[in-house]
Amino acid sequence: MAADHSESAPYDALVLLEREQERWRDLDALLRRLLSRLTYAAEGRNAGLDTVLGDLRLATRNTLDEERLAPLLDALTDAVASLDESHARPPRETFLPPPPPQPAEPVVLDRLLLAILDRLPLGEAAGAELESLRRRIVGCHDAGKLQAHGEALAALVARHIEQLEEAQRTASRLLDHVDSELTALTEHLDEDNQSRNDAVVARRELGERMAGEMLALRERARAAADLPSLQADVHARLAAVGAHLATLREREQAREQAWYEHTARMRERIRELESSTRNMEATLKQKLQLADTDPLTGLANRRALEARMASLHESNATDISLLVLDIDHFKSINDLLGHAAGDRALRIVAEQLQAALRPGDYLARYGGEEFVALLAADAYEAMQVADRLRIRIGQARFHSQNQVVPITLSCGIATMRDDDTPESLFERADQALYRAKDNGRNRCEAA
Ligand code: GH3
Ligand code: MG
Ligand code: MG
Repeated sequence: MAADHSESAPYDALVLLEREQERWRDLDALLRRLLSRLTYAAEGRNAGLDTVLGDLRLATRNTLDEERLAPLLDALTDAVASLDESHARPPRETFLPPPPPQPAEPVVLDRLLLAILDRLPLGEAAGAELESLRRRIVGCHDAGKLQAHGEALAALVARHIEQLEEAQRTASRLLDHVDSELTALTEHLDEDNQSRNDAVVARRELGERMAGEMLALRERARAAADLPSLQADVHARLAAVGAHLATLREREQAREQAWYEHTARMRERIRELESSTRNMEATLKQKLQLADTDPLTGLANRRALEARMASLHESNATDISLLVLDIDHFKSINDLLGHAAGDRALRIVAEQLQAALRPGDYLARYGGEEFVALLAADAYEAMQVADRLRIRIGQARFHSQNQVVPITLSCGIATMRDDDTPESLFERADQALYRAKDNGRNRCEAA
């Protein structure tokens, strides 16, 4: 039965809106590609302009990030103006992008939220939640829903901050604990010293008493009138000495016993302290590790990669090559099979790449469907490794919805030069990747 006009109108409007959004997305991708090719075409006139063109390519690579673009457009205007001083500087508006498509705001908002998600260094605890949020944001262009997702993201970050504060509080409690245990240990040592001193005093006292008894005995012997009374006196004094000795032995034993008990208690407290310090160290280490890990694939994340590149640069390591590996037409895998299948594909690609690399090589998920490998290899070896990875991914069988889905990737390779910074090395590999894409994909290109 045909739906009446008033019922079908909202549905028709929705279909129209979706078509319109699809068209804008395609146009967005097309414009970004067009921009990339234009930047290559315009290269080679002026070093300043080349730098701006490179930055522009990076900034428009996956998304249109307004915050990065605005200053770049200014820089581009300046660079173009400086090409020919005799021409009047074109007004900046000339280089501004065309007016944003309708509905522009939700499209920008979802990209903005995704960009924030990508940069959040939250640990595994938040990983599942972040991924579910990402799934809800990707492809969502409803301003109201996006606002709700934005609020959910803010709440997630706030919760994470609370957790960090809690971790800080735990650490500070541990430090208090350590402090009080150390104080107790110092007191114990003081007490021990004191009790040794007491023992020395007690022994000295005993010695003095014994000497006193002996002196008295000698005098008594000299003055003794009859043997039986002298004998009785000697007995009495020896008994007194014996009693002194027994008291001393008892005191010594009690002191020793107390000392043993005290020491056993202290040993137990030290053991507890060591174990809680070890636990805390392990927890902190785990937390630090999670902050450097991509929750979806378990690989190092962009933050960890950047730290690794910086330390390689500082150590002046030589024969280092960087591979930027980007899955071809990944968007269509998401579109055809759904985001969950896309996630699965990302995990499989990560596993395959990791399995194909040598133990000393470093692999990270740079973001989205883009991976980066750092190899201890010269340009020739790097090309061989890259091609091996590319072929392996092309041959991997990825199944979804009872069909084998072909996955290929393109790779850009750059080998570290003396004047390279981590950024320039990445930029050259990235340019090579663009060439690989432009030359038909499923291929590797060296810078
Ligand atoms: P190209 O061959 O030019 O690289 O095309 P492409 O489709 O791979 O590249 P594009 O940049 O147009 O699209 C990348 C897609 O990757 C869009 C985005 O939705 C998807 N994506 C990014 N991160 C994730 C993720 O974590 N999971 C899933 N399933 N998809 C993601
Ligand atoms: Mg891609
Ligand atoms: Mg990409």
